[in-house]
Amino acid sequence: MPILDTFGPTHPAAAPQLSTSSPSAARKLGVLPRPALDWNDEVAGDTAHLYERIKTVVPSIEWPFFAPYVKAINSLKQQRGAVILAHNYQTPEIYNCVADFVGDSLQLAREAAKTKAEIIVQCGVHFMAETAKILNPDKVVLIPDSRAGCSLASSITGEDVRLLRERFPGVPVVTYVNTSAEVKAESDICCTSSNAVQIVESLGADKVIFLPDEYLARYVAAQTDVKIIAWKGHCEVHERFTADELRRYRDDDPSIQIIAHPECPPEVLAEADFTGSTAHMIDWVRGRRPRRVVMVTECSMADNVQAELPDVEFVRPCNLCPHMKRITLPKILDSLLSLQEEVVVDPLIAKKARRAVERMIHLKS
Ligand code: SF4
Repeated sequence: MPILDTFGPTHPAAAPQLSTSSPSAARKLGVLPRPALDWNDEVAGDTAHLYERIKTVVPSIEWPFFAPYVKAINSLKQQRGAVILAHNYQTPEIYNCVADFVGDSLQLAREAAKTKAEIIVQCGVHFMAETAKILNPDKVVLIPDSRAGCSLASSITGEDVRLLRERFPGVPVVTYVNTSAEVKAESDICCTSSNAVQIVESLGADKVIFLPDEYLARYVAAQTDVKIIAWKGHCEVHERFTADELRRYRDDDPSIQIIAHPECPPEVLAEADFTGSTAHMIDWVRGRRPRRVVMVTECSMADNVQAELPDVEFVRPCNLCPHMKRITLPKILDSLLSLQEEVVVDPLIAKKARRAVERMIHLKS
């Protein structure tokens, strides 16, 4: 079914909308002193099993810098009773060596909803930290760098959603989780790229407003009979891939497998052997074990899957997300020591946004 209509931002991209508080958790729980961060035999021995996991993607010359942070973070995590959630786009030393749970936005939202830990450190971008806070209003949610934004989240405001509702009265609003709490609060239900088609069809409507990713909306529209009203938001990482570059990979090696994320433009998806969310892409490679594969998504994910599957050759068209890359081991350590930056969401907005997120989480697959 083609897209019914597409609307666009009428405002310049907004600055990251995350609110962080004055250090209330730090006042209550205290700031801890900085541990020694020396590379020595003890640190090497204590972290050797972790380096084993990433030795195919992190050169041994870099490990003496990472290892003292890895050791300190893992010990502080226990001391603080904290849990670290890391997105698939985090770098290998974070994803494999300090994270308690890894995954795509849906998997991280589910873990955030389930965790018993009192402190959640979100290694991802600010909409993910906000989602964790929305689901855990009484817990401390930390993001190691609150400037970690997202071009999709910045493309739309709550006011934009209210205007669309006025224009299309009675049409339900499905919002990708890559949005601010304010936008989620104006929505009927959230979705991720893992479950977007299922969520759209679950509403039983002949028409839905699907926000804010235009290319994901086009992908969904191609899979369903529901008419889609879309928004012109784009991921600044996935919109850079081109069909030409993928054709060149195929010309060089006709047996290569190309798998792509649905935030890519339609002509890029047309060149792919498989399209799916980051979690579905990882499952596809685990199940198929192709000889050579191009993962058309953020570059760090190929490193993370390569660490797990050394027999697969990953060809990396390396587009990095500058927001995801703001999260580093030194910032995670600082965050656990100082309990900063603590995420705050206005309780009224959080209550409305929670309905939309929980409705998605509880939808049976
Ligand atoms: S990869 Fe794209 S969608 Fe994901 S956080 Fe970065 S800008 Fe946003």
